[in-house]
Amino acid sequence: MKILVVNAGSSSLKYQLFDMTDKNVIAKGICERIGGNGGKIEYRKTGFDKITEEIDMPSHAEAMQAVIDHLIDPEIGCISSMDEINAVGHRVVQGGPYFSKSILIDDNVIEDLKKCIDIGPLHTIPTLHGIEGCTKVMPNAPQVLVFDTAFHSTMPAESYMYPIPYSMYEKYKIRRYGFHGTSHRFVTREMCKILGKTEGTKIITCHLGNGSSISAVKDGKVLDTSMGFTPLDGIEMGTRCGAIDPSIIPFIMEKENFTPAQMTEFMNKKCGLLGVSEISSDSRDIEKAISEGDEKAQLSMDILVHEIRKYIGGYATIMDGLDALVFTAGIGENNPRLREDICNGLSIFGIKINSELNAVSHHQNNIVKLSTDDSKVLVYLIPTNEELVIAEDTENAVKNNIRYERVTF
Ligand code: ADP
Repeated sequence: MKILVVNAGSSSLKYQLFDMTDKNVIAKGICERIGGNGGKIEYRKTGFDKITEEIDMPSHAEAMQAVIDHLIDPEIGCISSMDEINAVGHRVVQGGPYFSKSILIDDNVIEDLKKCIDIGPLHTIPTLHGIEGCTKVMPNAPQVLVFDTAFHSTMPAESYMYPIPYSMYEKYKIRRYGFHGTSHRFVTREMCKILGKTEGTKIITCHLGNGSSISAVKDGKVLDTSMGFTPLDGIEMGTRCGAIDPSIIPFIMEKENFTPAQMTEFMNKKCGLLGVSEISSDSRDIEKAISEGDEKAQLSMDILVHEIRKYIGGYATIMDGLDALVFTAGIGENNPRLREDICNGLSIFGIKINSELNAVSHHQNNIVKLSTDDSKVLVYLIPTNEELVIAEDTENAVKNNIRYERVTF
């Protein structure tokens, strides 16, 4: 089976074509500046150089067409016709209270996905455009939705409810949903394989990238997670502030004369590592500035370490124990200093890591055990692979005809 994994953003569309016989990526790339001028598509067939082409893409349908054109191109392509693509799997950021597993698209799915526009417009509208584009260009290919929120749907009410009037939940579906679920699910699965069991395990997964979230996973099910109603909640991120005193929001709005949209933009784009360091949202730039003695760069990372430790402590407490701590995503996989600083502050749990091994461990598609043999908690670097999970779920949903069972709210 060949599966095309699609991740549609507001003006971009990332894609990967998988051959599920060996679960290898055949080709991948990205379309950028969809809907504007100066659009371009990047295409890379595995084992070959990247090809970039300028092409106008007024909507996601033209972007999908450009992707297909590249995949089936007699010279640079990798398949002979569009019919070789057996299914399309979409990454969906916000599934709201509706979707708890990956499912084939039908009219009810689209109807309920449209209800998520209200709670997550930034992500849901592009997803719908991506689906429309696929339907137009590949009308015969089954499409499957894989939700970032689904893995977190096991959270108990005390984790997902906010202490605001209950009517806000009933009227507007305001609750913690959690995100990066596909990544947390992937690394949990790998960690459970290492532990040799799922039942009885207590794992904390740290997905640290541009966007970051931490999850407490007990018996393979999420008990709590740091992102909330939106991906803005939780720890400090590249450009997002994470959880801050709510009173700061109206305070800044008044002082700076911000509209709600401007304040949302401010919290999503101007804060986090970028806001504190005043240098960059990229941890590599921050690390460079730290090595040159920049104090704000140091502070931005100190805040991050401090917050991550607080989450780990809190999550170990609500799980009443901890078997394994997992680091993943861009920063989690590639920033040894951050991992070391986090773990050195967790001796209360008996966590010990091998500093030399940690220092040289970075993403190379390898799982690395970072904890020492006498550490009371296993610490692992597990490179994430969200696209693979989407491809696997898509294959599974198509083969087993997994359909949406509607729950009414
Ligand atoms: P996204 O949330 O956009 O998927 P990533 O998981 O790619 O983000 O994480 C981006 C972060 O990871 C950046 O801060 C970047 O500095 C860091 N990062 C990514 N790759 C590397 C690398 N090879 N070495 C050091 N840091 C890296």
